[in-house]
Amino acid sequence: MINCPKCSSEALVETPALGNIPLDVCPGCSGIWFDKGELEALLKQSQGGDSADLALINPGAEGLECPRCKNKMSRGGLVNPLLLVDRCQSCGGIWLDPRELALVRKLLGLSGGPSEVTVDRPAAVPAAPPAPDVKSTLLKLVAAAGAILGLIGVSFEMYLYFSPAAAVSHSPSAGLSVAGVLLFAGGIFVLNREK
Ligand SMILES: [Zn+2]
Ligand SMILES: [Zn+2]
Repeated sequence: MINCPKCSSEALVETPALGNIPLDVCPGCSGIWFDKGELEALLKQSQGGDSADLALINPGAEGLECPRCKNKMSRGGLVNPLLLVDRCQSCGGIWLDPRELALVRKLLGLSGGPSEVTVDRPAAVPAAPPAPDVKSTLLKLVAAAGAILGLIGVSFEMYLYFSPAAAVSHSPSAGLSVAGVLLFAGGIFVLNREK
């Protein structure tokens, strides 16, 4: 992935919009990055003849930063001294503004096909679902266990209370009942809060 030399936060998007040579186009400014040989191949494909000589005419050093190798590109004439483009002298790539692409086509007498290439930003990659919170899960388990224990305790007390006196030997304990109710209520409360 390479970033636009003009809008540094935009990543170039590969598109086959011009012939079968994949181009890297900026979704922000619609500038086009040609790796070494790509523009030559595109022009050759369009013209069906000899490849054009794309060495820069009167290159100067005030160009943009190369999106591929980060070296300073040179700004100079492409085909015609008046058609100024940015070319990286290290990797041979060429950066064209949308306006410059139209001029290249005009100068070379090319007609037909899109005069401008635009691309959409790629859809954002959906974020991964958050990892389950171990602490929260553990708390829920403890709360559930507490609620169940409380329920069992209360049920046992109820059983003792409502059973015929002769059937059971001990009487219900108020303290155990209260503890059971509190455990149950506390467990349910925590479970609801942690949802
Ligand atoms: Zn851009
Ligand atoms: Zn470069």
